[in-house]
Amino acid sequence: MHCDVLIAGGGPAGLAAAIALRQRGADVLLADALRPPIDKACGEGLMPDSHRDLARLGVDLRAGGGAEFRGMVFADEGARVSADFPQGPGIGMRRTALQRLLVDRASELGVRMLWNTPLLAKNGRLLIAGNCCHYRWLVGADGLGSRLRAWAGLETGTIRSRRYGFRAHFRVAPWGPHVEVHWGRLGQACITPVGSQEISVSAMSRIPGVRLGDVVGAIPFLCGKLAGAAQTTRERGSLTVTRQLARVTLGNVALVGDASGSIDAITGEGLALGFRQALLLAESLEAGGLEPYEAGHSGILALPRRMAALLLRMDGAPWLRRRALEAMAARPELFRGLLAVHVGHEPLSRFVLRHGAKAGILLLPGRRQATGAA
Ligand SMILES: Cc1cc2nc3c(=O)[nH]c(=O)nc-3n(C[C@H](O)[C@H](O)[C@H](O)COP(=O)(O)OP(=O)(O)OC[C@H]3O[C@@H](n4cnc5c(N)ncnc54)[C@H](O)[C@@H]3O)c2cc1C
Repeated sequence: MHCDVLIAGGGPAGLAAAIALRQRGADVLLADALRPPIDKACGEGLMPDSHRDLARLGVDLRAGGGAEFRGMVFADEGARVSADFPQGPGIGMRRTALQRLLVDRASELGVRMLWNTPLLAKNGRLLIAGNCCHYRWLVGADGLGSRLRAWAGLETGTIRSRRYGFRAHFRVAPWGPHVEVHWGRLGQACITPVGSQEISVSAMSRIPGVRLGDVVGAIPFLCGKLAGAAQTTRERGSLTVTRQLARVTLGNVALVGDASGSIDAITGEGLALGFRQALLLAESLEAGGLEPYEAGHSGILALPRRMAALLLRMDGAPWLRRRALEAMAARPELFRGLLAVHVGHEPLSRFVLRHGAKAGILLLPGRRQATGAA
């Protein structure tokens, strides 16, 4: 087997990288351990900037169904704030539908795809279905627990948070035009509309053993909304980790998506980050090497990491969350501004200048939950 670029992993980041590289003329071979449709625990919210990046890849999100959402709600038992995105809606879409769109586009461009085919390391060499593969560049897009990352010697880094995540679907008409994040005693639940009669319910918790039903069950508002709604898919689980790596490239190996460092799921940014990284990687390789990708990768993750720290702070200290939600409820422009920063529409510095001390309370750096080798 020969190719210019070998990609391990056919999740959203691996497929986006395959498309971006193929668009620039590379001969791409992608292998995934599973067979489509590949599902995963995920809140399934695509932030508004995903439209732009996927359009650059030639993927039209509207062809995948789903449901648009025009902003976010943050709520706990005592306070609720909502705001719309400044640059148009995001879209909630089943992971399986998103994967179908990406696979169709990759195959239209001539990406070679091997499914049910894990990449395995043996005696220091990578094997695909028992065979050696000759490649110029190797891309690790094999997700949070990336084996390729370890194989390539790119594990060094810091883990800032680690929580448990879950997701299932329910047959019920979305009751509002926003993605809703509800904080409760056991964690957060996130509601994303994914169809006219279906919502995706995801939950994140720090507590071992807690499941989706426990988190939702501790949030009376959601218990009311979901009472009697049929669960249409089985519950899936995954860790959600905020991880920063020291490097994301070494020699002829590059990491993209969750394999290259991740942020807590509460930000709803994981998919959008993978698309941005894929585009940057393709530009970088077309320019002749991985240096521009290494240099630009940390910039892509900087703001989302900051937002993850803020949201995890709100999660860890209920008194702080209450204060922040009440401050934003009293001054709706504060939440609107924060959302504009979150989706990259406004620089953080302008938000801080405009809102002064109030912004400072929200943006103080988060405490590290755990540190050490990632
Ligand atoms: C509870 C929860 C809610 C979330 N909500 C959102 C949200 O609303 N919006 C958002 O943008 N993000 C969300 N995320 C984050 C998002 O799911 C991830 O950022 C995204 O899936 C990362 O994509 P990826 O392609 O890097 O990895 P993955 O989607 O994990 O794909 C990795 C692929 O690699 C394959 N693979 C693994 N090992 C091998 C191997 N050895 N050989 C070949 N293939 C291999 C796997 O089969 C898989 O297909 C959420 C995450 C969680 C846990």
